[in-house]
Amino acid sequence: MSGRKLDSGGRGPVPEAGAGFGPAREIERRYALEVFPKRDITIVRGRGAEVWDDRGRRYIDCVAGIGVASVGHANPAVAEALAAQARTLVTCPGIFYNDVRARLLEKLAALAPPGLSRGFLCNSGAEAVEAAIKFARLTTGRTGIVSAVRGFHGRTLGALSATYRQAYREAFEPLVPGFSFAPFNNPGKLRDAVCEGTAAVLIEPVQGEGGIRPATAGYLGAAREVCDETGAMLVLDEIQTGFCRTGRMFACERYGVVPDMLCLAKGIAGGMPLGAVLGDDRVELTPGRHGTTFGGNPLACAAALAAIDFMENERLDERAEALGARFLERLEARLPARVRAVRQVGLMIGVELRERCRPYIDALAREGVLALAAGTTVVRLLPPLVISRKQIDEVVEVLVGVLE
Ligand SMILES: *Cc1c(COP(=O)(O)O)cnc(C)c1O
Repeated sequence: MSGRKLDSGGRGPVPEAGAGFGPAREIERRYALEVFPKRDITIVRGRGAEVWDDRGRRYIDCVAGIGVASVGHANPAVAEALAAQARTLVTCPGIFYNDVRARLLEKLAALAPPGLSRGFLCNSGAEAVEAAIKFARLTTGRTGIVSAVRGFHGRTLGALSATYRQAYREAFEPLVPGFSFAPFNNPGKLRDAVCEGTAAVLIEPVQGEGGIRPATAGYLGAAREVCDETGAMLVLDEIQTGFCRTGRMFACERYGVVPDMLCLAKGIAGGMPLGAVLGDDRVELTPGRHGTTFGGNPLACAAALAAIDFMENERLDERAEALGARFLERLEARLPARVRAVRQVGLMIGVELRERCRPYIDALAREGVLALAAGTTVVRLLPPLVISRKQIDEVVEVLVGVLE
């Protein structure tokens, strides 16, 4: 299958090993303060749903920058917007107004669930979560943050305090006080955990890192209700689910639940670092209480405007919905015995195995498909939403081959 012509990618020069790039593996090994367990692949170029390594090998990229490259690698509209903005104005701190930032804030307000017409811009998912925690504490005058078992919200100390996984937390304790966890998809236990001291309930509508686990309608509905009853704020972390990934602009649309704040990042800006918190008029901020140097810079905002335009023009929400369904249908038709469960919402896909997934992720890479792990047993696929039907079929083909 590997020589087959695909809908996107494959054009332009493929770099030779070492040609102008240097021995990246050796250099990074020597000079990085490494935080990630590395895979032995040096990626040097991307286009659409594909990337190439330094030996000219092509991969279908179901990692996509960890769910970032939704509009495809090297998206021409984003590249054009970046180049034009880089020639015009790259940086402009929040103490001044700026035309590009203004346009993005207006656009986000138009896309957001009803009422969430105000935005704060930052540079990453964790920063968005940090801001939302601070905004919730400021607004309610309370300190408690209730999040979910298996939830993931980032690695900075506040976001980490809301992140469940012990392996991420334990070396950094004591974390921020006031955080607690309730079992995911258990409305009764969530109700028990939220009280008059709760500033926010912070949850993902589909847990990503936690294994691609969609919230039930009953659970998200209960979260909305218990927040309304107690005066806590419902903060949805849509950093991974947002911007068409789940077949809607935002996953909360699938549930008909409107949060008090929405945390966004990953796919928002065509690969550029940008995060956002959207909130309503209730969010109370005294100027001077929070800030950021790079947040909302014109370069990232220009990329986001181009990426969001592309999502809307190309109907990437509908595309994610249709291609995700196609993936599921084709995989379920010949489901390998190693698979315990397949969970899929749009192009957010988790294939849970009955054993550890790591060897299969390595085998997938050898067969030209890059995939992620979520926990120890779930193969997670977050392809660019521009992926073609042919490429989706190829991913299923390779996955079934590797798992059999
Ligand atoms: C990736 C992610 C984050 C953290 O985003 P960073 O940009 O890595 O800080 C937070 N929440 C969710 C749901 C994520 O998927």
